[in-house]
Amino acid sequence: MNIHEYQAKELLARFGVPVPEGRVAETVEDVREAARALGGGVVVKAQIHAGGRGKGGGIKLADGPDAAADHAAAMLGKPLVTPQTGARGRIVRKVYVTRALNIDHEYYLGLLIDRAASKLLVMASAEGGVEIEKVAAETPEKLLKLHVDPIAGYLPWAGRRLGYGLGLAPAEVNAFVKLLGGLIKCFERCDASLVEINPLVRTPQGELFALDAKINLDDNGLGRHADLAELRDLHEEEPLEVEASRVGLNYIKLDGTVGCMVNGAGLAMATMDIIDLAGARPANFLDVGGGASKEAVTKAFQILLKDPDVRAVLVNIFGGIVRCDRVAEGVIAAAREVALDVPLVVRLQGTNAKQARALLEQSKLPLEVAEELDEAARKVVAAAGGTR
Ligand code: GDP
Ligand code: MN
Repeated sequence: MNIHEYQAKELLARFGVPVPEGRVAETVEDVREAARALGGGVVVKAQIHAGGRGKGGGIKLADGPDAAADHAAAMLGKPLVTPQTGARGRIVRKVYVTRALNIDHEYYLGLLIDRAASKLLVMASAEGGVEIEKVAAETPEKLLKLHVDPIAGYLPWAGRRLGYGLGLAPAEVNAFVKLLGGLIKCFERCDASLVEINPLVRTPQGELFALDAKINLDDNGLGRHADLAELRDLHEEEPLEVEASRVGLNYIKLDGTVGCMVNGAGLAMATMDIIDLAGARPANFLDVGGGASKEAVTKAFQILLKDPDVRAVLVNIFGGIVRCDRVAEGVIAAAREVALDVPLVVRLQGTNAKQARALLEQSKLPLEVAEELDEAARKVVAAAGGTR
């Protein structure tokens, strides 16, 4: 789960990480008030779950309340397009008003899990700011790394070495060691999967601040963090994914033209691969789970067909726990109920597959039945308008 910058900074502050003072606001008047309360120069920052906001016009410096209000008026309620949002952008519903800092240097600091090493990995660079991906790709030697052993924990000498590696002065290194300790504690206590500070800044006075903050929380850990689960912002999620998760279905939006209804994640992967191999791309996949009940299948159809990118649907279900004839009944009932208006290809294999095919053929619905996976893929790709 993703959270907003203002939420991430409130969390970090609890762990002693220095962040610029700020207030979140949803209206122009609240922005004006926040700027007045903070005093002096402020930054108005669009709160969306995507980076690159500076490049898209979502980060604006203002010398006072009126200028801050003007910037907020230009952002609030409007879509913000950044290199990470796609062309449609995301609607800005909140802005974060922070005290503007004078920046002497921008660093990069990122914490994530290194699965291969089974350790937390800290990455740091003196080349922080907006182009860290470029640094990693072109000059990887400028990206310093530190593994944190889960048993020994974070040791100050390792933090000091990293700080000196970044070229910090001795007094700054002390602040850095403490700041990194706070980040690591936050990462571990919150069950995060990513904590990224880009940029970490040094002011002309030699102070360090987390100027930006991105935190991803591990969904599997949310069960033990009721307070963090509340930070979820449904506006930032794909509406159909939210609708599916409410009824216990797993829906993932993709960018192709073929809607996929499957049971089980492994079959979903195989189905997407074979659609790709047949020359088209999946528009989404919807995992109805092991059970694949009639209700689940009906709801799944409703969700799939709301996706305007879907030009044909492939149902690919393996009847193991659930019998294929039951699934076929569900598919038939659902197709009738939702007034299916795109071509449908159905492949059912497993228990009672023969009876299932007979039911589908007798239904007189405009659907195609397939036995083999490659055959199903070819049929659905043709039905969706052919190869790309
Ligand atoms: P992002 O573009 O979404 O990554 O948003 P950031 O919060 O990282 O801001 C982008 C850039 O705006 C930073 O790298 C800074 O150069 C600039 N910026 C943000 N806040 C301040 C500030 O308080 N003072 C100054 N001078 N620049 C800022
Ligand atoms: Mn940033």
